[in-house]
Amino acid sequence: MARIVMKFGGTSMAGTERIRRVAGIVKRQQEAGHEVAVVVSAMAGETDRLVNFCREANALYDPAEYDVVVASGEQVTSGLLALTLQALGCKARSWLGWQVPINTDDAHAKARIEDIDAEALIASMASGEIAVIPGFQGVSPAGRVTTLGRGGSDTSAVAVAAAVKADRCDIYTDVDGVYTTDPRIVAKAKKLPLVTYEEMLELASVGSKVLQTRSVSLAMKEKVRIQVLSSFIDENAPAADTLPGTMIVSDEELEGSDMERQLITGIAADKNEAKVTLTRIADRPGAVASIFGPLAEANINVDMIIQNIAKDKGETDVTFTVPQADLVRAQALLEERKDAIGYFRMIAEGNVAKISVVGVGMRSHAGVASTMFRALADRGINIQAISTSEIKVSVLIDADETELAVRVLHTAYELDAAA
Ligand code: ADP
Ligand code: ASP
Ligand code: MG
Repeated sequence: MARIVMKFGGTSMAGTERIRRVAGIVKRQQEAGHEVAVVVSAMAGETDRLVNFCREANALYDPAEYDVVVASGEQVTSGLLALTLQALGCKARSWLGWQVPINTDDAHAKARIEDIDAEALIASMASGEIAVIPGFQGVSPAGRVTTLGRGGSDTSAVAVAAAVKADRCDIYTDVDGVYTTDPRIVAKAKKLPLVTYEEMLELASVGSKVLQTRSVSLAMKEKVRIQVLSSFIDENAPAADTLPGTMIVSDEELEGSDMERQLITGIAADKNEAKVTLTRIADRPGAVASIFGPLAEANINVDMIIQNIAKDKGETDVTFTVPQADLVRAQALLEERKDAIGYFRMIAEGNVAKISVVGVGMRSHAGVASTMFRALADRGINIQAISTSEIKVSVLIDADETELAVRVLHTAYELDAAA
């Protein structure tokens, strides 16, 4: 007998018909003799719809009230799944974030899980009841509803798996594993049977939304075994224990397997960043700090940064990227501080995409970046900013060229599946 946490994403939960299929998968897992807890997302599109209501109500919305609104999507699906399981004759109940409780900090809209008191959950699972937990939500020290940032149900699932000491955390989604790039963009993408935590972490952080970044870092820290697999399977499909999804593994496990290591593991695209340029800033110590200090205090993550020094004029332009969702707040903050920072003009552009290539093979191979720049140049794709880490190279380009860039790079690094 194993203890398994199963997580189902938005597409899998979209409507009562699909929830019935999910309930069937959960029931079979329990009938195989396992203790199960299920973490669910809101129905596909529901969180976007709720976020839009918040924007319409107040563009500079209070994140605490935003959380009250957007957490509701998962409340609906958790109740519906519990009802559907009961209709199939299973014992099941829902556990809202505050009921478990899933304790988080008070950083509304991007809260971090601090601890989960799993005692009651474990007792419920041991009694044969299926615990259904809404993903994405928690409770702050002040007792208010929090959410974990977009895609946060993955993190809820891993955190619950760590708390109940699960043998495995199965992430069911609408693709049957992690691919060399988004299989919806590149039909020739290849499924990876194994990916290391480190590679998955980097892929997720640069936009492979198949797993939320925090879920991977948490799994790495807590040594949770994650498997990514499809919920779009029929009743006769083999059990999850033998389904060929993607297993996230340690470096040692990968080395012990017979999978050949590629130079590049995968390519990711992220259209959720926006570019901000402040022109003609005084080229003096402290100027840059006066921009990024307030952004950091407002919890706005800055990703790529470029500073162009115009030596003769003693002025410089600074370009950086922030999450699209934070752009309005960032602009308001910088506008307020226009005189203190001393810039001439603020130019914001949302139509950009960050394309990244990731692979631990890069550590020992030169030329990965130059292959990227050459392949993009050959197609006339202009690079607006570059950033690198030990196992990743990212470039910022026009968002309209995203699909083309990903395809071109997939071919350039010889990742295309044989036709
Ligand atoms: P869920 O609603 O189940 O959480 P998501 O939409 O968050 O699902 O994540 C699954 C999606 O991630 C897939 O439909 C796919 O389009 C996308 N994706 C992006 N990069 C990859 C990748 N490298 N491998 C597989 N899927 C990817
Ligand atoms: N429903 C939330 C979102 O769409 C959380 C999730 O699905 O993981 O971001
Ligand atoms: Mg997701």
